[in-house]
Amino acid sequence: MNPHLESQFPLTPSPESPRDRLRYNIATELVYVDNPDNGASPHDRYNASSMPIYQTATFKQNSATQMGEYDYTRSGNPTRSHLERHLAKIMNANRALVVSSGMAALDVITRLLKPGDEVVAGNDLYGGTLLYLSASNNKGQTVYSNIYTTDPEEVRPRLTENTAFVLLETPTNPMIKIADIPSISTIVHEKCSRAIVVVDNTMLSPYLQSPLDLGADISYESGTKYLSGHHDLMAGVIAVNNLSLAERLFFSINASGCGLSPFDSWLLMRGVKTLAVRMEKQQSNAIQIAKFLESHGLKTHYPGLLSHPQFKLHHSMARGPGAVLSFETGNATISERIVEGTRIWGISVSFGCVNSLISMPCKMSHASIDPETRAKRALPEDLIRLCVGIEDADDLIQDLQTALIKANALKISINGCHAPYNLDQENDAMSLSVGVLDF
Ligand SMILES: *Cc1c(COP(=O)(O)O)cnc(C)c1O
Repeated sequence: MNPHLESQFPLTPSPESPRDRLRYNIATELVYVDNPDNGASPHDRYNASSMPIYQTATFKQNSATQMGEYDYTRSGNPTRSHLERHLAKIMNANRALVVSSGMAALDVITRLLKPGDEVVAGNDLYGGTLLYLSASNNKGQTVYSNIYTTDPEEVRPRLTENTAFVLLETPTNPMIKIADIPSISTIVHEKCSRAIVVVDNTMLSPYLQSPLDLGADISYESGTKYLSGHHDLMAGVIAVNNLSLAERLFFSINASGCGLSPFDSWLLMRGVKTLAVRMEKQQSNAIQIAKFLESHGLKTHYPGLLSHPQFKLHHSMARGPGAVLSFETGNATISERIVEGTRIWGISVSFGCVNSLISMPCKMSHASIDPETRAKRALPEDLIRLCVGIEDADDLIQDLQTALIKANALKISINGCHAPYNLDQENDAMSLSVGVLDF
């Protein structure tokens, strides 16, 4: 009998405990790949520095009864196993699983739910997640997706004996609100023995935050964003410490075939190796840009600014503020003009890429949420989101400043001459006097 079916768990990867291998700081661990000549699996006979792409669906058996290490790529593939081992190490998890997208990861996780289960979720979740969860309401699960997870005491009264999941994002996108993972995890584990805390860590990546170390039971993220870094693949990653939970998650992946393809596994592995340098540069650019916007009186949401109401909480959990921020102009038309007035900043949804992106969430990534719900969630229609890349910070700021001026969002004086300033709703926008353009 196929042992995969018997145990519902693949023979591979069978890593020695990654906990024992997290020896260096994460920037080192991201590029340091253990040469699996210590008998660990998967093993490459030529010791290739870059794990080959095993572009094959099947693996031959030695005999009719003797199974090899791999038999079928839906169940396991050496390139995918190699990536999973590496990710388990950097996510400080006992097991990592990679699937075809971030949403596929959420889908695999929600397959743990049974009819009658309740899900408590944050009120500022990723649009796709919200849309996905709303369908669960028709599958016998009740989803409370309007919970203000910035306050653990708002979560407590929602917990019942039927609570199966508490789903968190921190920082949220695009409002950059922070959820207290350790406090919420403690409350959940005290009140409901069955419930698990699930954290979507896409906004920070494992380089900046390790939800499992903070008390979460499942950490997942879209590998499409920072892990890949180049917007050239889609992937999702799930990490857990509890191996029986891992087995249940693997069952769905093996049964449905949503495991990441060999080529995309290889590409994602390549991306992961440069995560630290990309994130450091993106974050340092983001800090400068946030300061620039705030210095001009624009309401800026970013946990790298002391003005962020949850600055301390964020930095008690994370190793940095990340590279996504948002700001308000007071006028949606002006915001549209700003977004369209930039050159370097690409108008695009998503984030985590090496190049900088600008968007209006209410018109783009969050347009699937109806205006009424957006208003309830206090999602400002004029909000602009910046996803900062690795370009030169001065160029990014200059480009943004030009767009702000062209859109009449800044009242400036250049060499003593006032630039045009003819806002319809002057009171809604900021009225500033910027001395020079050379910030
Ligand atoms: C993009 C994203 C997802 C979904 O990931 P895909 O790879 O696009 O399926 C989930 N959560 C967050 C926070 C995201 O930004």
